[in-house]
Amino acid sequence: MIKVFNTLSRSKEIFKPLKKGEVSIYCCGVTPYNAPHIGNARPFVTWDMIRRFFAKSGYKVRYIQNFTDVDDKIIKTANEQGVTWKDIAEKNIAIYFKSMDALNVRRADFYPKVSETMDDIIKMIQTLVDKGFAYVLDNGDVFYSVEANKAYGKLSGRKLSDMLAGARVEVNEKKRNPMDFALWKSAKPGEPSWESPWGAGRPGWHIECSAMSLKYLGEKFDFHGGGSDLIFPHHENEIAQSQAAIGDENSFAQYWLHNGFITIGSEKASKSDKAMVKATKGFFTVEEVLASYPGEVVRLFLLQTHYRNPLEFNRERLDEAQNFYGKLAKAYWQLDELARLIHAGEFIKDTGEKNFAITVSKAGGLVEEGERLLSNFYAAMSDDFNSALAITHMFELAKEVNGYYGEFIGGKILPVTIDGDIILRVRDIYLEMAEILGIFEQPVPVEKVEKTSDEPELVDSLMKIILELRQDARAMKNWTLADKIRDELKAAGIVVEDTPQGAVWKKI
Ligand SMILES: [Zn+2]
Repeated sequence: MIKVFNTLSRSKEIFKPLKKGEVSIYCCGVTPYNAPHIGNARPFVTWDMIRRFFAKSGYKVRYIQNFTDVDDKIIKTANEQGVTWKDIAEKNIAIYFKSMDALNVRRADFYPKVSETMDDIIKMIQTLVDKGFAYVLDNGDVFYSVEANKAYGKLSGRKLSDMLAGARVEVNEKKRNPMDFALWKSAKPGEPSWESPWGAGRPGWHIECSAMSLKYLGEKFDFHGGGSDLIFPHHENEIAQSQAAIGDENSFAQYWLHNGFITIGSEKASKSDKAMVKATKGFFTVEEVLASYPGEVVRLFLLQTHYRNPLEFNRERLDEAQNFYGKLAKAYWQLDELARLIHAGEFIKDTGEKNFAITVSKAGGLVEEGERLLSNFYAAMSDDFNSALAITHMFELAKEVNGYYGEFIGGKILPVTIDGDIILRVRDIYLEMAEILGIFEQPVPVEKVEKTSDEPELVDSLMKIILELRQDARAMKNWTLADKIRDELKAAGIVVEDTPQGAVWKKI
């Protein structure tokens, strides 16, 4: 059972897909007038995690995300730079994909653009005019009439009268109600325009998402998402115009999910964080953040907070995420190393015993713990996609793996006593969690996540432990392991020499 917080009902609901075993999602994409900033990235990483979770849970997922490539800001930027609106949009869409690829965000099934959906947009506006929900002005502007729709305000929970009292609304004497919004804007000099039944012009912002979701997902689909800044007016207007055009107040998206804001430079932020904040924009682009941190670390950082909660962005938090990622990566490498040894024939072969629970061994205990934590992981994700909690279960497993590996390296567990399939199952569990979170899909340089220490005492005491473990392996005549420790140290730049007084080490 999957529960989701639906902005429309302002409560957690049990998710019932419209079609059994299928999930359809529409998420509002970017307006490509500049490179995506870290705040833009949050909804896309969130939805990527949700898609992965559904796919892993056996659902067939269809995901649509648009590009608002016809927009005031794009036109303004193009005019300032003396290029076309298309140049600006294309350049920034390319940066968008590059940034999202670095964050392991899988591609949508389709990325409709306003410029390529014009016929559908015009058709939908015409339907609204025909049904009396929209009106045309003399100059060719078309407006949606909020008073024609009793339910206007149901997503944001606002009443029309309150909106009028509190809002600073654009004054247009020709509008019937100040809250009416533009569906079509008549052409202005120096702006791109398209032919329509009301003359040349271009669409208002909100209508595109209605036309696109209708075109690619049908009159009813499961999820609609975006940042919480889109609840009003964008999503409110989408619902109003879509349900009016379709003629069914239960049509359009069934569940509305909104992610919280990313805050930056709050009172708590340090001086260096504040220095990081650009005076002009106040936000870093994803590219700027990626110059200092690996994409997977940034992704983990974003998912370590529940998607609905606000997220404070600062260097200290990113460093913490990097450190944490290093701990998760360590268990990943350890499991990889164990798998390598299993494939090299160092462990006993599968005995055909599939009931891991009754296997009396340390590995049996480890796999039992792994299965328990995997089930906790799914439970957390099923509770409104609580990746923050799910990650703690993965971390628990990482600690178990660390402990097991430590004993293994120390010679306390000998490969011949372990059924290799059990360890491979633990590895599969760990990778299943990683796949849903979307990490360990690209190589991350070790030096980025494992900070080397300048403290000589610490290195001395660590080396003492390692050499004692190697001595234990030798005492147990586990020459393979003893040699392996020596070889790995050498690869890391440390030479071990056996002397009559015991083993000594030095840096190469
Ligand atoms: Zn939208």
